[in-house]
Amino acid sequence: MQNTPEIWRHVDAKAPELIALADRVWDMPEPLYAEFRSAAEHVEELNRQGFRVEQGVAGIPTAIMAEAGEDGPVIAILGEYDALPSLSQEAGIAEPRAVAHHNGYGHGCGHNLLGAGAMLAATAVKDWLAARGIKGRVRYYGCPAEEGGAAKTFMVREGLFKDADIAITWHSQSFTEVAPAASLANSRVDFTFTGRASHAAAAPHLGRSALDAVELMNVGVNYMREHMDSAARIHYAYLDAGGVAPNVVQPRAKVRYSIRHPDTPGMRALLERVKKIAQGAALMTETTVKVEIISGVSNLMANTPLEEAMQQQFELLGPPEYTDADREYARAIRATLSVEDIQAAFRAAGRTYDPDMDLCDQVPPRDAPRQFMIGSTDVGDVSWVVPLVQAHGATCAVGTPLHSWQMTAQGKSGHAHAGMVHVAKVMAATAVAAIENPALIEAAKADLAKRLAGTPYDCPIPAENVPPLDMAKG
Ligand SMILES: [Zn+2]
Repeated sequence: MQNTPEIWRHVDAKAPELIALADRVWDMPEPLYAEFRSAAEHVEELNRQGFRVEQGVAGIPTAIMAEAGEDGPVIAILGEYDALPSLSQEAGIAEPRAVAHHNGYGHGCGHNLLGAGAMLAATAVKDWLAARGIKGRVRYYGCPAEEGGAAKTFMVREGLFKDADIAITWHSQSFTEVAPAASLANSRVDFTFTGRASHAAAAPHLGRSALDAVELMNVGVNYMREHMDSAARIHYAYLDAGGVAPNVVQPRAKVRYSIRHPDTPGMRALLERVKKIAQGAALMTETTVKVEIISGVSNLMANTPLEEAMQQQFELLGPPEYTDADREYARAIRATLSVEDIQAAFRAAGRTYDPDMDLCDQVPPRDAPRQFMIGSTDVGDVSWVVPLVQAHGATCAVGTPLHSWQMTAQGKSGHAHAGMVHVAKVMAATAVAAIENPALIEAAKADLAKRLAGTPYDCPIPAENVPPLDMAKG
């Protein structure tokens, strides 16, 4: 590991330029699949850093694939840059106040840092390869639409990762650590019922209510909850309740379901059960139902060799260093958080609650017993086709929830920058460890093959679906 500090120096050398990119992207928050200016900023920076850049990959205008180096192993480093609605917020303050010209959008999940931090790691690996004259390639994948657009699933389907040897990514969190590979496979499915309109008082016997069908379907699914895996999650939203007139039997109604399960085969099985309930509801109401899978993501696959390799790099580097000003701002943010938020962050990282801790000051052990609530991510699909490891970077006051105004507010702070540069060092050093040690790459591939045994990757998005590029328009 004698080369490790050298890769840290490569990260430090490029940190100011990539911090500036993170700040620029924070200043132009754009929603999923509409990250045009943010992607353009990334492309410009990648060109400036000397990558070979391809934009618009997988039929997505804001998706980027950039490569540097020659031959050797291919290390994929994944970044994101989409923002969120309803999270516009001024930077550097500890009270909610929107930025007028951000149209309601804000980087409430820290993806301005995610994209730039991943690019910082990729740039450092590129510079290290060039300085050493080592054969190897590093690729930066600019992945749009993480917030519900499943762009990575489409990028996987397009085969963009097929020659990558390992993949590395990260996300902002309270504590820096090797991210536990826990996420739920998720399928979003629309059920559209069609019935027959009629006068609800004068001719109710002639009407067949699509709204009744949706309500019966929901009741059926709610009864099913008792008989499904307790880690599975099912939720729904009415997209169309059939109109506003109670005196018309509703001839159409539409409900969107999100069906989540700890693994993709389990999610598919659950989806089949929900479909049967929908058909039952249609049968009961003499309506018809159309089922459309809107999008899907797979669960995250763990990778023990890569996680152990990344943990070593965390322990070598130690926790991030923060200034007194960073701590002061973090304390001001903490004062706006609930004790429950803060305690949840400690539990999720397997740490003992410390009411005085403002910023992450330790790296937790990889096997800390954790208690977290989990969602879904399209990083999951990449982890089925290439061995993948994910870091958490400590870029916010301990306890800051994702998708909060507090997260947006801290997106350009000193501690956000420090946490981003810190995690870039860990990612770059993990990449270097893999390039220098082909046995690690082989072990990572063998680990994935073992986990996939019997269940090869099966894209959760139907072949006919194209990326929903106009999703932000609703
Ligand atoms: Zn996020």
